[in-house]
Amino acid sequence: MLLKFIHKFYIPVLFILLTPCTSNAFNIKAQPVEVFPGDVIFFKMTSDETSLPVAVFRGKEIKFYKLQGNEYGALMPVDINTPPDDYSIDVKSGVSLSVKIKPYAFPTKKITLPEEKVTLSPEDSMRVEKEYLMQEEIWKYATEKSWGGGFISPTDTAVSEKFGVKRIMNEKKNSVHLGIDMKGKSGTPVKAINSGKVVMRAELFYGGNTLIIDHGMGLLSVYMHLSGFNVESGAEVAKGDVIGFVGMTGRATGPHLHMSVKLQGVSINPEALMRLEF
Ligand SMILES: [Zn+2]
Repeated sequence: MLLKFIHKFYIPVLFILLTPCTSNAFNIKAQPVEVFPGDVIFFKMTSDETSLPVAVFRGKEIKFYKLQGNEYGALMPVDINTPPDDYSIDVKSGVSLSVKIKPYAFPTKKITLPEEKVTLSPEDSMRVEKEYLMQEEIWKYATEKSWGGGFISPTDTAVSEKFGVKRIMNEKKNSVHLGIDMKGKSGTPVKAINSGKVVMRAELFYGGNTLIIDHGMGLLSVYMHLSGFNVESGAEVAKGDVIGFVGMTGRATGPHLHMSVKLQGVSINPEALMRLEF
């Protein structure tokens, strides 16, 4: 049973140890090795080599960051549109990782919103475009790792809508829910899912009062519809710090927290991130 568990979550791919205390140790593990579209995979590598290997998944480089000593880590987003399949990732000569992307039938949901929040006026369209471009710049951040240990839930409440739900708004416009919704009355505390720096505190058309935290390694968490903020832009926050409060500002039908995660510009399932063990 224990072996089965270990096998499922950690597959040591290759471990070369020529002699004890050799300087040529190389080892890489992936967690998990079976995922759904929208999930995230953590790679942990031990290497004493002078240059890091360059691994690519579907045309995108997997970027390793130094963890400590000769340990390096990489978080790899699996885009929600990735075709389910068995993939082999070449890490370096003679070393490859197997990753299985399993199919997942994301549900469809019909929702009704105020018409002016679905069919936008020219002014609102311009505002949305400007806010989109502003955030596109933030998704490019690739700072050093500032998170530590596992990622926590932003509230003590349950998830009311999962990642990947296909929404049909007012029976005409489609969108995919690229985050999770957390239940909560107005004023419920919202916590930072890990340590990092507040890189945006703004009032957005769709998101209402919105905070973005940069955790490093290209990972950013986003908190929307807040009734109020508890941190300033530029503040360093620790995991669990109260950063704001649940509300219904922006495009929201009722009080809740919409939380999303961008990893190297790709939206990933926050619940998959929270399942990772470090
Ligand atoms: Zn949402």
